[in-house]
Parts: sequence; C-alpha cells; structure tokens
Amino acid sequence: MKFLTEDVPPRETAIEVAPGVRRMVADNPSNMTYHGTNTYLLDTAQGVVVVDPGPDLPAHLAAILRVAGRVAAIVATHSHSDHVQGVPWLREATGAPVWAFGTRLTADDALCDGAEMFGWRVLHTPGHLDDHVCLLRDDGVMLSGDHVMGWSSSVVLPPEGDMADYMMALERLLDHSANLYLPGHGPVIANPHDYVRDLLAHRRAREAAVLAALDDGETEIAAMVARIYPDLAPVLHPMAARNVAAHLIKLEREGRTTQRSMSAGASPG
Ligand SMILES: [Zn+2]
Repeated sequence: MKFLTEDVPPRETAIEVAPGVRRMVADNPSNMTYHGTNTYLLDTAQGVVVVDPGPDLPAHLAAILRVAGRVAAIVATHSHSDHVQGVPWLREATGAPVWAFGTRLTADDALCDGAEMFGWRVLHTPGHLDDHVCLLRDDGVMLSGDHVMGWSSSVVLPPEGDMADYMMALERLLDHSANLYLPGHGPVIANPHDYVRDLLAHRRAREAAVLAALDDGETEIAAMVARIYPDLAPVLHPMAARNVAAHLIKLEREGRTTQRSMSAGASPG
C-alpha cells in the first residue's frame, strides 16, 4: 500500500496543522518512530491540552512548556514510552492533571470510551496497544495516535497488542465522520477513510498470506516472515515475526487454523 512521507520537520517548534491544533515533533527518529513522536497542543476554552509529551528529551519538553502557555491537562493516546516518558516531568512543571485510559500510566483522571474531554470525544481504539485512544473533535479533526499513521502501518505486538481488536477498531473509525487524522508519527492524513479502508485491505491481505503459508505446510514463523515480507530489512524481521504471530493468534481464536497443518500456537517470536 502507499504511505506518506515528509521532510525532516523542525524541532522545538510548534506548527499549526488544524485550527487550534499545533504539532511539535520530538527529536527521536528511528525505524519505529519515523522522524520522531508528534506532540500536539490543543487550544481549548480551559487552556492548552498537551497530547503525548513524547520521550524524555529536555529540549523538547522545555519547548512544549515555552509555547504552550497555560496547560490545562496532559493526555496520553497510549502508554508506549515514546509518547509518555515526558509526562511526569511536564506534570511536575505545570501542575496539570494527567488523563489516560487504563492503568499502565499513573493518571489523575481516566479517559473513558465515548466521554467528552475539553471539546474532544474519546474513542477507545485497542489493538496497537490495549490502552490506546483516539480523540475526535466535532469538525472532523481526529488525533489518531499510533492506531492510524500515514508513514507506516501500525505494529501489533502480542500480548499487549491484539490484531482482532486492531482491525475491529479500524472498522469502527469508519462510523465517525472524520476528515483529517493527526497521527502519533508522521504527517497529517487527508482523506482518512480511504486510508483506513486501505489499511484494512492490507491487513486482510496479510491474513490471507498467513493462511496460504499454513496451507503450504509452513510451520515456522521465521519462514512465514521471509515468505510474506520478502523485501523487509532484516533489522525489522523480529517486529514482522510478532505481527505474524498476532495474525496467527487472531486466526486461531476464530477457529480458522484448525483444518490446517499446524496449530498456530500463541507464542510470539
Ligand atoms: Zn509511537
């Protein structure tokens, strides 16, 4: 499928990407984070809401503090470290409450599916991680976190990640009339529903490839990775193996591996 690219963005600089929404990109580039983690500053009636302060990078956190003004709250889309390492420091520096879904992150307030928070609606979107949420505003702007990113498909790593949840949460997004996604990494996604449909088709194609490998008597995940991802850089093979494992777990749970030559097993690796 086609992914979006962008030039290396400026650091410690907030750029408006939607009305009342500024993006600042942390300087933590990698093959899992693209140019770095996106921190979003949301202008609300109560002050600025900081979504995903990002990793523990002093220059990035100081820049958030400098440009945000009065911080009304700190919100995490999910508890992966590249999004939340900076939360304790920012909480200490601002006194603002931390909002998060679930219990992995020490939060002052709980995000709940369907709840309204500072003019944004919370959508629980498990899959990439079980505590992942997206935030949707009435005008169709949505913070999509790592659930939907334009630069890459999301990794789904068991046991915290769940492929069935991920695909169901993708389908659920199509029920909401969003017109612009602001992801956790990479550039904004225009025409997001077309993109979500492409992601779903991509996952279904992967699923079909895993089933075909099983049909051919393939029993080793490493061999399935070599077959399904022939052009993938070796450094990414462990991640791909866990993604394949996530598909196998889903297929086994759905009873779709039982007629085949192996019991898929639930152990990633
Ligand atoms: Zn991330």
